[in-house]
Amino acid sequence: MMKDIATPQRTKEILNKYGFSFKKSLGQNFLIDTNILRNIVDAANITERTGVIEVGPGIGALTEQLAKRAKKVVSFEIDQRLLPVLKDTLSPYDNVSIIHSDVLKANIQEVIDEQFKDVEDLMVVANLPYYVTTPILMKLLEGHLPIRGIVVMIQAEVADRIAAKPGSKEYGALSIAAQYYATAEKVMTVPATVFVPQPRVDSAVLRLNIREEPAVNVEDETYFFKVFHACFANRRKTILNNLVHNLGPKEKKQEIEAALQEADVDPKRRGETLSLEEFAKLSDALLKRLA
Ligand code: SAM
Repeated sequence: MMKDIATPQRTKEILNKYGFSFKKSLGQNFLIDTNILRNIVDAANITERTGVIEVGPGIGALTEQLAKRAKKVVSFEIDQRLLPVLKDTLSPYDNVSIIHSDVLKANIQEVIDEQFKDVEDLMVVANLPYYVTTPILMKLLEGHLPIRGIVVMIQAEVADRIAAKPGSKEYGALSIAAQYYATAEKVMTVPATVFVPQPRVDSAVLRLNIREEPAVNVEDETYFFKVFHACFANRRKTILNNLVHNLGPKEKKQEIEAALQEADVDPKRRGETLSLEEFAKLSDALLKRLA
């Protein structure tokens, strides 16, 4: 029996065999701990009927553990140098497809339609490249994809921001954007020692369970996103000041004040104290007056 890819020794052998050098610019930090991988796969509740989309397979450490449990795994890898490596390391598994593509440019819905006709449910599972964590997560969430959830290794600090509750210092536009589409929880924190090379930041596994319906009802989703982003443009400013300076024409101050009153939000509050429900009410009240 071949040893798992994610052991320090086998990883070293694979890297040496192919003379592979890490590209920092591509966020290449590979996992070398099978226990952590098992925890990630467990957190995703994968069965033999589950389809999995992976971002960035690297040399296949996580892909292998997913392939052992899932019906099918499709992985997007941007680095062409890894294609021959993956062909070799994943040769024992006939349920894995590698797509050579930047996931941010890929048509994920099309891939789902083509590759996952016969699965019962669909999960995204990945050890993400940290330089593009937020754009990748937002693409997956905003794409209205037919996925049950997302389990990802990301920077601990970003996991904290995504899962943050109103009133905490981590709570901001990213928390609201993610929690609009999904419930978010930090599953575990992970030490840098389980990666080669070791990242300079702490890491964590985050689970997002996609909601059947968004958390709140709004008249206009795009406007709602504009409103809460404006409210966090300057964290030290009050909600009124942020809206006046970052949402619409400044001469609309009176309309903004009226909208805050209608939504029952004190203009002196700061964005970090508002719940999703309050942002939704405020967005609809502003839309009536400003849009
Ligand atoms: N899954 C492997 C593991 O856990 O050992 C590797 C994870 S490593 C943190 C991130 C991987 O994402 C690398 O293989 C990198 O080449 C790839 N990657 C970086 N940017 C990407 C992008 N925009 N689209 C797809 N893959 C990307």
